[in-house]
Parts: sequence; structure tokens; C-alpha cells
Amino acid sequence: MGVGHKAENQAPGKAGALIVAATPIGNLDDVSTRLQSALRRVGKVAAEDTRRAARLLESVDARARLVSLHAHNERSRIAALLRGMLAGEDLVLLCDAGTPGISDPGMRLVREARNAGIRVTPLPGPCAAVAALSVAGFPADRFRFEGFLPARRAARLARLEPLKRVAETLVFYEAVHRISAALEDMRAVFGGDRKAVLARELTKLHESVHGGPLDELCREAQSGAIVAKGEFTLVVGGADEARGSEDAAALDSALKVLLDELPARQAARLAAALTGASRRAAYQRSLDLKRSKQAAE
Ligand code: SAM
Repeated sequence: MGVGHKAENQAPGKAGALIVAATPIGNLDDVSTRLQSALRRVGKVAAEDTRRAARLLESVDARARLVSLHAHNERSRIAALLRGMLAGEDLVLLCDAGTPGISDPGMRLVREARNAGIRVTPLPGPCAAVAALSVAGFPADRFRFEGFLPARRAARLARLEPLKRVAETLVFYEAVHRISAALEDMRAVFGGDRKAVLARELTKLHESVHGGPLDELCREAQSGAIVAKGEFTLVVGGADEARGSEDAAALDSALKVLLDELPARQAARLAAALTGASRRAAYQRSLDLKRSKQAAE
């Protein structure tokens, strides 16, 4: 395994490592070569659902012993797992799908292992939030992962309310039976114009990535046009993105009136003064508008 990890509390030299491994979110071909060899090499795998993990192990011809580790037994299992690693055993940690710890169990074991000076190393791979962000077309240089919203409406609205001013792209996980209600509440809080992308069944046979203003997505969810089946990740444009499109619409309206009367440079100068846009952006946009007008004539 790699070098350069120095734990705060160094465990004995012979200690094993905790390998936090991501698994496919729907397509078994996304099992990496590294994951295959780690699963074949280690003696023990801690998994959220051992039956599901058994299928994965079988598919790569791995024979490790499976230990269940889920939200309800994580605390009680940790001591024994740490003992194994301190005695020299490498342990792979898996969740049902995607990356452990991301809206899934694993954080406690990782924390305790690190506290015990055990080397904790990632075996990176699929994560639904990142996969959805990568195809949503919203800025992801900064984003905010919000995981699952509360099941009750009042609590959900209370969680959404402060998010309406958040500038960055927002990412939510949502269960299929709540997708419509979540979209409705987002529309109520963020406004119907806010753009969002619904990523469904990523990497699977019926994958779909569908975007539009929340108004439209709500209508489609109600009419059944968005299939009410499968796994969903919802990406919502941040407040800056929404403001950006309002600003762009205001600049376009001003330019359209001014370009009927004035040359592009003058129209751009006035439109910039009226809307707060930069002169350069206004001039560039005035040329685009002129070109599309000429093309339409
Ligand atoms: N740890 C996982 C990860 O890294 O992606 C997430 C686990 S969380 C319990 C499961 C949620 O992830 C689902 O309810 C859904 O919102 C989202 N999800 C999982 N697989 C997905 C897929 N193939 N397409 C879209 N969303 C998915």
C-alpha cells in the first residue's frame, strides 16, 4: 500500500490498514482494478449489507470474511474491528453503493481507527453526488452537499429556507416516494425559476438526467413524466446562478430596445449603465443579439 501516511497516534508497526472503498452505484463494470485486488487480498470486509457485498465479492472471486457494519451496530462492532487491525489485519470498509461515510455508515469506524493510530486509506470510486454534479452543468468549483432532507414537510421547509441564499450549487439525495414533495417544497422556497437537474438511476440501464426550472420539474413530476421509480440525486443551481440569469435577462431586455435605435457600442454603454453589467459583457452581448437578429431576417 502507499507511503507517506503518518497517523497522529502511530499504531504498532505490524498494524493493518482500514481501506475505505467505494463501490458501483449501479453498474458493476465500475468496479476498479484496485478494488478487485483489495477485495481478493484482505481477509475481512466490513459491509453495510453483507448479502449485497457477498455478490460483489463473488463477482471478483474474492473470499474474504464478511462482517456486517451498519447504522445500528456500528458503535458495538468498532472495538473488535480495531483489535483485528491492530493485530495486523487489513480491513476493507464498504457501504451498499458509492462511497462509505457519504450519507452512509463509516464515519465512526474511520474516526476511531484514526484515533488508534491505524492507517486509514481511501480506495476512491463512485459517489452519486459527484456523478450527478459532473453531468448537471452547474458550477462545481464550490458546492454544498445537503444529503437527505427531513421526511416531514415542516422540517424540510425549515432546512430549505436558509439554503435559498446560498450562492453555491446544492446537491440533495432523495428517496423516490418523496421526490415530488421535495421538488414542490424547493419551488416554494427557492422560487419556480430556480434551475435544477434531476439525475435518476445514474450508470444504470434507465439512467436519465433531466434539467429545467423547478416550475417545470414540478409539473413533470405531477404528470408522471418523471418516472416515479429508481434512485434520484437532485442538483439545484445556487443563488448566484439564479441571480446571474436574472441579470442576463435584464441586460437582454435593455439591449433589445436600445439596439433598435443606436449602434452596438452606444447601446452597450447605456445598457451597462442601466443594468449594472460590465461594458465589455454588454458589448459582447449586443453583437450576439445583432447577429441572431440578422440571421433571423
Ligand atoms: N454513499 C453513497 C454515495 O456515495 O453515493 C450514497 C448513499 S445514500 C444512502 C443513497 C442515495 O444516493 C439514494 O437515495 C439516491 O439519492 C442517491 N443515489 C444512489 N445511487 C444513485 C444512482 N445510481 N443515481 C442517482 N442517485 C443515486
